Formats: sequence, C-alpha cells, structure tokens
Amino acid sequence: YSPYRQQLLDANLSFDHNQWEAVTHTQGPLLLLAGAGSGKTRVLTARAAYMLTEVHIPVNQMALVTFTAKAAKEMRERMRLYPGVTTKVAHQLLVRTFHSLFIQMLQHANPQKWDMSHLLKWPQSLLKEVGTELGLDESTFAYDQALTQISWWKNHMLLPSSISPKTPFEEKCLGLYKRFEDRKEALTLFDFDDVLVGCLNLLQESRHLLERYQQRFTYLSIDEFQDINKIQFEIIKLLAQPHQHLCVVGDDDQSIYGFRGSNPEYIQLFTTIYPAAKTIHLSANYRSTHPIVASAERVIEKNLDRLDKQLLAQEDSKDKPLFFYPLNEEEEATMVIEDIYQKLNQGCLLSEIAILYRTNVSVRALLERLLDSNIPFSIDQKPDCFYERPLIRRALSFFRISLNEDSNIVIQDLLQALFIRQDKQIELKQIQQQRGCTLLDSFSFLSDLLPFQQKKLRELPMQCRKLTQLKPYEALTFIENELGFKDTMRKQGQEGNKMEKGSDDFKQLKVIAKQFETIEAFLNHADHVIAKHSSSLETSPDGIQLMTVHRSKGLEFNYVYILGCVDRSIPHEYALDALREGDEKPLQEERRLMYVAITRAIKNVFLSVPTHYRDNRSFPSRFLRPLLKSSSSS
Ligand code: ATP
Ligand code: MG
Repeated sequence: YSPYRQQLLDANLSFDHNQWEAVTHTQGPLLLLAGAGSGKTRVLTARAAYMLTEVHIPVNQMALVTFTAKAAKEMRERMRLYPGVTTKVAHQLLVRTFHSLFIQMLQHANPQKWDMSHLLKWPQSLLKEVGTELGLDESTFAYDQALTQISWWKNHMLLPSSISPKTPFEEKCLGLYKRFEDRKEALTLFDFDDVLVGCLNLLQESRHLLERYQQRFTYLSIDEFQDINKIQFEIIKLLAQPHQHLCVVGDDDQSIYGFRGSNPEYIQLFTTIYPAAKTIHLSANYRSTHPIVASAERVIEKNLDRLDKQLLAQEDSKDKPLFFYPLNEEEEATMVIEDIYQKLNQGCLLSEIAILYRTNVSVRALLERLLDSNIPFSIDQKPDCFYERPLIRRALSFFRISLNEDSNIVIQDLLQALFIRQDKQIELKQIQQQRGCTLLDSFSFLSDLLPFQQKKLRELPMQCRKLTQLKPYEALTFIENELGFKDTMRKQGQEGNKMEKGSDDFKQLKVIAKQFETIEAFLNHADHVIAKHSSSLETSPDGIQLMTVHRSKGLEFNYVYILGCVDRSIPHEYALDALREGDEKPLQEERRLMYVAITRAIKNVFLSVPTHYRDNRSFPSRFLRPLLKSSSSS
C-alpha cells in the first residue's frame, strides 16, 4: 500500500480495490456507478482528501456538490476524518448543495437582485394570490400540483410561450405560470427555480464570469447524480467544459425525484457526452447485512431498464427483515413504538433508529403516540397538524357545534362545510342576540338563501343533536351521508390533484374515531393533539429520526422502520392511477423509493403492513410480494 493509503488504514479507513481506483483517479471525467451502501459518498470525500494532500490541488479549485443540506453537512464532517486534511482546509473546501452553490454565483454577479431578502420562501401563497385573481378557487383547484407543474416546466427550460397545454388543468397552470412570473418580477422576488434559470442565463451570457467559475471549479464532484435535472446538468456541463475534471457518483436505482424533472438517463448519457470518461463500478455493500441487501435486490430487480450492477453484502446475519401486520394505522403506531422500547432496553441509541414513510400524512398516528410518550424524536419537516387540515376542521365543526362550542372558527368552518357565504357570520351573531338562542339554533333562522339550503338548515339543529347520541364513528358516517359532507369532499377532491384526496383524510378520521366512545372524548383528543403539536414538535437531534423516504436518501441507521407498506401508500395511489392509464414510470419510481428505504438499514429493517389502511381493507405492497413468501413475520 502507498504510505497515504496505509495512513488511512491506520485511521480505520479502508478501501477496496475499486474504491481506491476511484479515489486516485483525479484527472478527467469519472463516473462512479454503484448500488446503495457501496461507499460512493465515502469515496467522494476520500478522493477530495487525496486530491488535497497527495496531488496538492489547491482547495480553491475544488467543489463537492450534493442535493440536501443534511448531506452537505455530513460530507463536510466526513472530510475532517482524513489524515492530512487540516481543520482549516476542511473549512475552506466548498461543499454545497446545488442551490447554495448557484445562488452564490448569482449573488456575486448581482448582489442586490439576488439578496436573500428577495427570496420568495412560500411560492405557494403568492401562487394562490395570483390564482385567486384568475378565479381559481383554492378549495377546488390543486395549487400544490400546479406549483409542481410550473416548476417542472421551468426546470425543463420551457417558457410559457413555448408550451401547448394538453389538459384543461395544464391550461390553467399555464395561465398561472405567466402571471406568477410577472408578479415575481414586479415584486423583485425570486424562488428556487429562478436560481437555476438565473444561473444558467448568467453563465451563458457572460463569458468573463463563466471563465472565472471554470477556474474556480476546476475539480467538480457530484454526489447523487441520478437525481440531477436538465438545467442543473446544463450548468455543470458549462462549468466543466474546458478541463472536464468532473466526477459524478450515482445509482440509477435510487433516482426518486422524477416528478421534479430529475432524470436517471443522464447517468447513461454521461459517457456519451464525455467519451473520455472512466467508469468504475463498486460491487460490495458495506452498510447492510446480507438479508437486507438480498431483500432490496429482490424488490428492485422487477424494474425494467436498469443499468447493470452487482451488490454483495459484506456481512451476513441471521436476522431477516421483519414484517409487522397491524390492524390499521393506530395499531401500527403502537406496534412500532413497543418494538422501539424493546430496542432501547437492549441498549440501542435513539439516534440509531429511523422511521420512514411515504408522505407526511402517513406519520400522523405515530406522531400522536410519540407526542404522548417521553421518547425524544426529531422530524425533518414539520407536517401540518392533521386536525387542523381544512377538511378535517370542517368535519369536526359539526361535532363542535353539536356540543354548543361557539367560536368564530367553528362558524367559519361550518359555513364552508355547508357551502354558505362567509358574510352570513354577522347575521348569525345578530340572530343569536335577538332570539337569545344557541349558535346551532341560529343557523335555522338564516335568511336569503336558496330554498334547498334553507331546508337543510332548518333540519340542522335536530340532526346535530342526534349526532351527540351516536358513537364518533357512526356520527362521522352520519355527517358524510345525511349532512351532505360527501359533497364537501367531492368539491374538495381538488382539480388536477394527483397526490392527495380529501376523502382519504376523512377515512383516516374515521379510523381514529373508532377508538373513542363519545364525541366529547374524541374532540378532547383532537384538541390535545392540536395543543401538543404547536408546543412540542420542537425536535431533538439525538432522538429517533422521523422522515419521508425522499429525505432519507444517502443516510444510514442501525434500525429502520418503514410505515404503511401497502398498495396505495407505497406505491402511492397516483402511481397506480398512472399505471391504469398505461404509464408505468411512476410505479417504477415508487419501487425505487422502496429500494432506497430498505437500503438505509445497517442491522435490520422492519416493514409494517397494516391489514387495513384509511378505513379500507388493504393489500401488502406489491413491491414486497417477492419477499413475503420467504420471510419471517411477527
Ligand atoms: P448510498 O447509495 O445510500 O448513498 P453510498 O454508496 O454513498 O450509499 P456510503 O454511505 O458512502 O455508501 O457508505 C456506506 C457505509 O459503508 C458507510 O458507513 C461507510 O463508512 C461504509 N464503508 C464504505 N466503504 C467501506 C469499506 N471499504 N470498508 C468499510 N466500510 C466501508
Ligand atoms: Mg451516498
């Protein structure tokens, strides 16, 4: 071994043959293509250390780029472990996310325009503002989806003038896109997508700046290359043009941002664009035990068009992935937490445990349990409180008013649930005063409404009183069928929204309701969670890690719990809808998500397969079927 490699070994950092080949290949384009846990990120940092200490490349000619701030932070920390890399140099080395790197270039060129105070942090709100002017109603138009659509266009460098919409929804998005762009410009605001577009324009327009940055980023390394999108790649290509010391690291099986325009095909294209590129494969998995790697492989091998790769676990274990079969989401939370208590009793550290889920909604039950336990946890992205979602609030407003709860919010929610204009609020107050009646009774005296509404309202007090005699679950069914809540949900089954359905939330509400005997107890629970949610969702970094599968990319944990391993959750319902329409791409991306989730585990993975999900009988995730035949269960 070379003295430096020996030094690394002494510092407990070993590298296999292929890894070392990549570490020492410092000149020209390099593609490192390998499966999960094969040491790609480790090689990337070791290579940077090698370039600094052995090849003596100046630190101010190098940059390491990745996707998330968490990953960048981890890489920076890993850099410090290498012999010869002083704290000062580690500090000087540019380790950035795409966005922070690009924004830095823009700020340099035009500090006023790109000052962070002009960053539009909540594009959603501005989009809604603009959309309202176009008459797009928030309760029926899927703004989330529209934002994704606009972002997709921008990231494919499509200007409004060059788009021909294919659906009525796209047509509305296009109108919104134009107006949104104009408004941002008028307000001198920019969003994250503008940073990408702005940076590409900057480099294309200014030769001088481009040359400067080509100098500054002579040696560029990119982690998680499978998730790069067109515009990001265009920028990288420009920067790497003269010298081509571009190292990219990736795994096509972990490409999970297709909905944002990332494209794993760039991995394949890399060697076409850079014919001089060297490709290195890594085939050993150093992270997980053999049963974990074997299971992950069995899941992903069903995908088509995969690049050829091998992955051999270095460690065997008797422990196979464990399946849980809870009755529903509530029991799932209980089972997972009980199992975690056992792990903790066995001396496992909290931070070695991760709980992964497909969408933020799927963690609702578990979060409720955790808030009531004394287990510290950290959650990456604060989900909104389930009981404060507009649709759920509207459903619960029937309960609240039947128990004579009288507040402006209850009135607003109920008016919305009944499709009655908000300005009727004042009239309700007046009626209450004049007649000396309860809020509930005042509804039946509202005037100036359509005949069918009037009829509905006359019956409302009696119907609400009936609610209090029912158990919460039956009461919700009554609200749904007799009080017209089905219409509310249908109207709010947002136009164009592929990802979320209001009726799903309502079904979840019914599952929760089953646990309570009275409406009062149910509401108390909801209020308790609302209060806890706002006060104690502050997270502790050393606690259990809760995150979506998307956010877990690149990370590793001793024990990984995956919630909701059923069809319609993973794979997400939208992917199944797409499949029915003949588009298999989303389903393949969902399968890659499952692969990413399983391969986060070092010692073992726990797959929870609730037999009921969202108040319906559910089926084990189709991705897990190859495993179910051979695995143990609990
Ligand atoms: P992912 O695809 O999930 O991003 P990766 O390929 O980037 O994974 P790393 O995170 O770099 O993999 O490495 C996985 C684990 O294996 C880490 O804990 C790393 O320290 C360890 N590891 C990598 N190479 C070796 C090696 N040669 N010997 C021992 N451990 C190694
Ligand atoms: Mg990695």
